[in-house]
Amino acid sequence: MNPDRVISIFRDWGEPAYRGRQLIGEICKGIESYQEVTTLPQGLRDRLGREMPVLSFSPDRVLSSADGSCHKALVSLNKGARIETVLMSPKPGLWSACVSSQAGCALACSFCATGLMGFRKNLTAEEIADQVLFWRQYHRRSKLAGKITNVVYMGMGEPMLNFDAVKESVAWLTSPILYGMAQRSLSISTAGIVPGIDRLTRELGQVNLAVSLHAADDELRGRLVPINRAYPLDALKKALGRYFSKNNRKVFLEYVLLAQENDQTKHAQDLVRWIRRAGPIHLLHVNLIVWNPTATAHQATDRESARLFKEHLISRGIQVTIRKNLGQEIAGACGQLVVGRGTISKKPFNER
Ligand code: SAH
Repeated sequence: MNPDRVISIFRDWGEPAYRGRQLIGEICKGIESYQEVTTLPQGLRDRLGREMPVLSFSPDRVLSSADGSCHKALVSLNKGARIETVLMSPKPGLWSACVSSQAGCALACSFCATGLMGFRKNLTAEEIADQVLFWRQYHRRSKLAGKITNVVYMGMGEPMLNFDAVKESVAWLTSPILYGMAQRSLSISTAGIVPGIDRLTRELGQVNLAVSLHAADDELRGRLVPINRAYPLDALKKALGRYFSKNNRKVFLEYVLLAQENDQTKHAQDLVRWIRRAGPIHLLHVNLIVWNPTATAHQATDRESARLFKEHLISRGIQVTIRKNLGQEIAGACGQLVVGRGTISKKPFNER
């Protein structure tokens, strides 16, 4: 659903541009076959079906959690690389698509499954936006309740290292003739690529920014999130300063809780100190994520320690939520997306 391509193909075929726009609007609603677009002449529908597949990739399979709140698809891109993409429902009737921006990832965060794959390729804008299209189709076909209201760039890969394609996909998702979503319904998460944060500040000011912090001490963060060596905490803090000087919007700090490693009182104190220097504390919101199992050498923090960590922050006036770990049973939770090496097999999949 690259609108420019559709319109140029229509031009080559001698069809008026308005028909192309009409088609794109219909398809973005989640229609799977051109035959359903009855506003187009039959001959054109047939030709489209033969020459222009609706999706730019082929979905291989979908796994669904037993309670139906999380679905994960394995998808083959047309040049062979594969990715995973997730649809999840944090609240009944509300759905978020969690899209991948790269196949694999170069950043090798020590606790993340995607990092085990290494980097394979940058996705095109079409491959990114088509994950939303795929989930709209799936949502419609499976008659799931409610609507897909949000898109989070929190699947495989580092969105800030594929910024141009990410930005173009945002333009399509927010275009009224395509998906018509608001920038505020979209969130981009970064492991802390400072030039990317600066571009988001300047170019995508209404998109929510999430930063994967995970530690507020350079030595520890450098071990967990190696890109910290290129963009240390101080550089990150300054980037947030530039963000807050332009945008009066909340930034989310993700913090994965790893037993003994970054979940002790000392770590909570470091975090509080860092947050107080990084910006107005009412604009910084901490999302604690209890570590989801991956083939890496870490342990999840227990419930009680997670609660204590949260309380420590709350008592210092910091806003915190513990993120629900949706999709663990299908290895579709944060940090569990992987294809090939690093996959945890022997999982009780409820395969559709
Ligand atoms: N590369 C970007 C986008 C990925 S978002 C980023 O790092 O922000 C995925 C989120 O899940 C990130 O915050 C990541 O650090 C976190 N994560 C990775 N592995 C995890 C795991 N095993 N358990 C919980 N969260 C994890």
